[in-house]
Amino acid sequence: MPEDCLFCRIVAGDVPATVVRAGERTLAFRDVNPQAPSHVLVIPKEHYDDLGALATADPQLLGEVFAETAAVAAEERLGDGYRTVVNTGRHGGQTVSHLHVHLLGGRPLTWPPG
Ligand code: AMP
Repeated sequence: MPEDCLFCRIVAGDVPATVVRAGERTLAFRDVNPQAPSHVLVIPKEHYDDLGALATADPQLLGEVFAETAAVAAEERLGDGYRTVVNTGRHGGQTVSHLHVHLLGGRPLTWPPG
């Protein structure tokens, strides 16, 4: 694990987080700067920099991350709908280089985002 990776440190328990769901290989926790009433990040526990890295190395795990995202959405009672976002790289606005799915819901979301 990269020692300077914030999300690896959350997985290790070295940085506190509000965990909403933990799978064998995935973790879901609340975003510290929520952009919607429900804003959860879903990650693989193992470190992958971004979507391309995980999709290439372990597409099954990528599927698990999205399955967990859907499970969290159900637990959060987002039956009216929700948005999933995966930012990649500098132009994509990725600030933490550990693949994560943003789950946003709890209010109507505009498209395109502002
Ligand atoms: P991104 O910009 O797509 O890389 O998303 C990174 C997200 O991580 C942002 O929405 C941040 O608010 C969130 N974040 C940063 N630090 C923490 C933390 N310690 N616990 C939970 N979420 C965090």
